[in-house]
Amino acid sequence: MRATKAIIHLENFKHNIKEIRRFTKPDVKMCVPVKADAYGHGSIECAKAALEAGVEFLAVAAVEEGVELREAGIKGRILLFSLASPEEIHDAVKADLTPFVFDEEYIDMFAKEALRQGKKSYPVHLAVDTGMGRIGCYAKDAASLARHIADTGILLHEGTMTHFATSDGKSQADCDYTKKQFEEFKSAIRGIEEAGLSAGICHCANSAATLDLPETHMGMVRPGIIVYGYDADEVNAQYLAKKGTPINLKPVMTLETEVCAIRPFKKGMSVGYGRTWIAEEDTDIALLPIGYGDGFLRRFAQNGIKVAINGKAYPVRGRICMDQCMVDIGKDNKEIQRWDKAVIFGCKEDGALQTADDIAKLTGTISYEITTVLTRRVPREFRS
Ligand SMILES: *Cc1c(COP(=O)(O)O)cnc(C)c1O
Repeated sequence: MRATKAIIHLENFKHNIKEIRRFTKPDVKMCVPVKADAYGHGSIECAKAALEAGVEFLAVAAVEEGVELREAGIKGRILLFSLASPEEIHDAVKADLTPFVFDEEYIDMFAKEALRQGKKSYPVHLAVDTGMGRIGCYAKDAASLARHIADTGILLHEGTMTHFATSDGKSQADCDYTKKQFEEFKSAIRGIEEAGLSAGICHCANSAATLDLPETHMGMVRPGIIVYGYDADEVNAQYLAKKGTPINLKPVMTLETEVCAIRPFKKGMSVGYGRTWIAEEDTDIALLPIGYGDGFLRRFAQNGIKVAINGKAYPVRGRICMDQCMVDIGKDNKEIQRWDKAVIFGCKEDGALQTADDIAKLTGTISYEITTVLTRRVPREFRS
């Protein structure tokens, strides 16, 4: 295996699921998204681990992601969070993916395909847009769409969902907006019930709402980022401890590589494309076989990113290349040998000095992006 690899701690993944379960009542179902290759962690292995940990639903964004799970023998329920295009509907139904629906045309497409494939009944969830501005119908239209689902005679209205836009923020404006969305969602559900129909399993809580807003749990929660061991923005470990509901999440991924060469540099020599860094004194430069072709993004270097080697942090110098980057380890560093491990982010136990959250804060993004952009070239090594 390549020295540059992502270690995936499935034991931490399962631990996180168990920690999150402490925040919900026992009869509340859990849906774990394994979309985008499980936020970069490897969807098949994470899906299996999630089912072993007892989650009731998995979720993907693309039909192909769901098909991949089925081909790997995964039998559990799978929600389809994004829309399928007309040419994907056949595969979606064949793979028993449960779609979010919210307009008559799309409902009819699934009904027709389910009929064609000889299904007796086919579950769908009605999506309501209460303010995310993404998928979903308006709350006032929920009842008539529920009626339309029932009228197909083959689709089963198994659940009703919405998605929060600001539940991970703690400003007054963010909290007010989440509250408004939740009220809107409840009015959609009431409308469906007043029409004499069932809204099924109602679900709206993402990571932040799962940990912070128990009143929004309803029939099911859909925590994503916290399952992979990162904070849901302002609903972080500190905030939750202060609130009296502490949580102990463990990062699932460690990204590591190794020192593949050490080269002496004289004062005035430069490192990398564009000569953006010039040695101000004699030093040694360690070469690491990781670059933006692996998802170690070029812009990380602009923010003075460091990597851990044998328990100490060393700065990346110059621009990050596609396949390599260069680290300043100082003159005659006796603590570093060629082929030593260099850890970019991850678990303390693996020698990391920062998490994907730390890199995200440093570089103006979110942990989701740091793990999700790791490319296929980085092998995932699963530990359980
Ligand atoms: C990705 C996603 C989630 C999980 O979001 P997190 O912020 O990772 O908790 C939940 N619901 C929907 C519809 C999603 O797309």
